[in-house]
Amino acid sequence: MIETYAMSHPLFPLAKHEAAHALHGFLVGHTIHGICVTRKSAHTEITYPMSAESLTSLFASNPRLWSCELARVLGTVMVGALAEGVALYGQDAESLDGWQRAYRRCGADVADWLKLKAASFAALTSWYRHSSVSAAVMTLGERLLREGEVSEYGFQSLLSALVVQHLPEPNYPVIPPSSTRWPHTSGAAAVRRSVAVHNTMSDIGEYEERARFFATLNAEQERNIQRYRAAR
Ligand SMILES: [Zn+2]
Repeated sequence: MIETYAMSHPLFPLAKHEAAHALHGFLVGHTIHGICVTRKSAHTEITYPMSAESLTSLFASNPRLWSCELARVLGTVMVGALAEGVALYGQDAESLDGWQRAYRRCGADVADWLKLKAASFAALTSWYRHSSVSAAVMTLGERLLREGEVSEYGFQSLLSALVVQHLPEPNYPVIPPSSTRWPHTSGAAAVRRSVAVHNTMSDIGEYEERARFFATLNAEQERNIQRYRAAR
């Protein structure tokens, strides 16, 4: 039950905003270092798996993995305003612009960005629509209002009181980058085509060579994913 004083408190919308950043971030594997909701300031300190600067090289190594990781980051950025019930503004809007510039440096065009942002927002809203999620954001917001400032450790203990393990996790789809601009994906398409076309004895050698090449590539991607997961 949310205390009545919280519902009518002028800072409650901001408390929900920060609670939503923190809860969503936590559930998608972002590190929450601390949250502050006071009259002077409201912010959440978060570390993402990548920076706007490191995205370019990570993306080149695995566009599918990192476009999905970027969708999760966009979700954490956008969820604050969603919970507050307003349009994106201030630092969150600036942050989104920064990620757009970073994604464009990876070779994405405006259409790719809009597609990724729309898919990310769709996944985010379908998660937030769960009544257990919006209830958890309200409860966490109320606690933040009471505490004013919480550390990383303080946030962990608030989470255990919320029994977050029963909350659904946000589910971000892999948004396949356009194959004309990303050589990685056009390569995968090429091997699929070769299955259909190179079906005669004379072509078997070439096909096997390609299959070996892509098997190596996939193993490399798998290692990257495992390294990345281990680092989280
Ligand atoms: Zn925010």
